Amino acid sequence: MMNDTNAISNKNTVPDIKQKSKILCVDDSESIRFLIETILDEYFTVEFEFNPVNALMKIDESYDCILLDLMMPLLSGIEILKEIRKNPKLSSLPVIVLTAKNCNEKEIADLFAIGANDYVTKPFLSAELIARVKHQIKLKSTTEELIKTNDILYKAVKKEELLNEKIIEKTIQLKRSNKRIVTLNKRLRYLATHDKLTKFYNRRAFYIFLENDIKRLKRINTKLSLLMIDIDYFKNINDTYGHLTGDMVLRSLSDIIRSTLREIDIAGRYGGEEFLILLPDSDAKGAKIAAEKLRKQVEKSVIDPDNLKIKLTISIGIAEFIANEDLDSLIARVDKALYVAKNSGRNVTVVAE
Ligand code: GH3
Ligand code: MG
Ligand code: MG
Repeated sequence: MMNDTNAISNKNTVPDIKQKSKILCVDDSESIRFLIETILDEYFTVEFEFNPVNALMKIDESYDCILLDLMMPLLSGIEILKEIRKNPKLSSLPVIVLTAKNCNEKEIADLFAIGANDYVTKPFLSAELIARVKHQIKLKSTTEELIKTNDILYKAVKKEELLNEKIIEKTIQLKRSNKRIVTLNKRLRYLATHDKLTKFYNRRAFYIFLENDIKRLKRINTKLSLLMIDIDYFKNINDTYGHLTGDMVLRSLSDIIRSTLREIDIAGRYGGEEFLILLPDSDAKGAKIAAEKLRKQVEKSVIDPDNLKIKLTISIGIAEFIANEDLDSLIARVDKALYVAKNSGRNVTVVAE
């Protein structure tokens, strides 16, 4: 029955298992105890439990293998096996069932289905029992190693995933702030170039357009005219209705200018109630038509902030760009034309000489 040579060689090749491995044999038979002790004690630390109920309370992760008898009073091996398999902490604990010789194929298959790792038929060969126990213990430690490696890998992957998520989050944040900066820059540029009240270009921005058009005229043979608009007796409006109403009147006038002039005409606020309009590709004749159209439109409009129905007129100076003059000269001439318009009774348009 006993193969001592085999047993000794096994002992020598796996010394670590002997020191570490702890086996619990659950069997109610004294003779089996004697047998198993004799066979396994040399290789493993073997504990015995006759009472299956006690065995169930005892079994924990400290064991490396359970040898389980099927036929026991109080609690059958199958019930113990089922209980062991219910405990996730014992998932890698191998259970070798000690079966009777008359176990059929179906019963053996059922044992595996319940969670047995292996079986040994009584009476067993000592070498076979040793080999099977060693095999299960090795498998257990390999499985545990794999689980540990898997756990390390899982944690590393999780960490990387988390890092990736953070990177994505930061990238999104960065994109958002970039977008905000772009919007803010646009807003700043708008504020720096536009008049808040009328939304027309401010004087600085208007001059850039004018300068640019003057340069353009030096390259291509075309015309350019400038209108300077001033509200007649605007001071009276402020004095009569107050400054806030005066502001609303200025805003209404800017709307009239916007809707009356052509898309390509550029409007700017020159000063308080004075506006400059750049008419590209227009000579004095064309500019006069545009100016008259605007003057008449303002004259017939009723500006109605707070139901006040305010009437308004404007005077307009007109100047066509003369070859080789500069911006200052053009402004001075249009200003002079406006001055003449004022002096000639207001609500008129005057072309500069
Ligand atoms: P004129 O026909 O000679 O142009 O008479 P006027 O009263 O319009 O001329 P004046 O230049 O003496 O007055 C312009 C007034 O415009 C004075 C100032 O209080 C007013 N004004 C300038 N800027 C603003 C503004 O932004 N809002 C308001 N409500 N009034 C303004
Ligand atoms: Mg004025
Ligand atoms: Mg005025």
